[in-house]
Amino acid sequence: MVRKPSNSRPVVGVIGLGIMGEPMARNLLRAGFPLVVWNRTPARADALVAEGARLVASPRTVAEQASIAITMLSDSPDVEAVYRAPDGVLAGLGATRDDTVLVDMSTIAPRVARELAAEAAERGAVLLDAPVSGGDVGAREGTLSIMVGGDAAALERARPALEALGSRITHVGGSGAGQVVKACNQIIVGLTLEALGEALVLGSKAGVEPAAIVEALGGGLAASRVLEVRGAKLLARDFAPGFKLDLHAKDLAIVLATARELGVALPGTALVAQLFQAEQSRGHGEADNSTLVRALERLAGHEIGVPPVA
Ligand code: NAP
Repeated sequence: MVRKPSNSRPVVGVIGLGIMGEPMARNLLRAGFPLVVWNRTPARADALVAEGARLVASPRTVAEQASIAITMLSDSPDVEAVYRAPDGVLAGLGATRDDTVLVDMSTIAPRVARELAAEAAERGAVLLDAPVSGGDVGAREGTLSIMVGGDAAALERARPALEALGSRITHVGGSGAGQVVKACNQIIVGLTLEALGEALVLGSKAGVEPAAIVEALGGGLAASRVLEVRGAKLLARDFAPGFKLDLHAKDLAIVLATARELGVALPGTALVAQLFQAEQSRGHGEADNSTLVRALERLAGHEIGVPPVA
């Protein structure tokens, strides 16, 4: 096993180089962290390797070589597979004691986060759940909001690396709490997006220029980051992801399952989940989550920005 060098910048590993993971890895490189990476589709690491990252053969090797090993994968089963595979993250931990801090920044079920943290603890390592908000823009700019559940001392060890990724790092509680707060985040983002879509469909069908609606609302109580970032995309009818609808639908499924376990009714979230389903049924699951407005447009018989028939 190659052990970690003890220079001032610890070796950081990133597993999962998708829309989020790749720019996050790049920010770690730019901050001076020696970086090892692994991705299921190796070609997606090419640009990072050219910039100085080292591509290794398996998640196990990442865990063996990195002091801080970050995963940024799609869904709970993906994180479970990458952790538990024979060549997975857990296999790369020391047999008895290991000071590696594992940081799962994917959005997954709180229950799975807690289970994996327990399995890491059996090997002497700490797993933090540290999902993020801020989207692909926040990932590129290093301005994510990172909500962390798990051991506070381990967070302090990981903090210098997380500071290269985000501008707000909040320790929100014990293992799984980060994923609970991320679920709260996804409720607000989903419902805000739905509200934005309803507002634009109504205003546009009434004959008002959509850009004027976005401009005016951005200066008042209806202003939001969703309006700012997704409003511009909607006006351009740019549905390239961003944040894939399939991933947001996955998040709302986590929210609703957690709500069912707790006996909490979330009628607004259930409605947005159904509108997401309608867009998935139309083959738009890989589109940006703002494609939600296209479901509303169909219900209204009006496309935002198309002049209404007099
Ligand atoms: P993405 O572009 O679809 O990337 C997903 C990554 O996970 C890819 O590297 C993919 O590898 C890898 N992967 C998926 N399943 C795997 C498996 N079974 N085994 C190994 N690797 C697997 O997704 P993303 O937008 O980066 O999102 C990643 C996570 O961040 C998700 O949990 C998402 O909910 C969350 N998130 C996303 C945003 C956003 O705006 N995009 C914002 C906040 C949080 P391949 O390259 O081989 O496909």
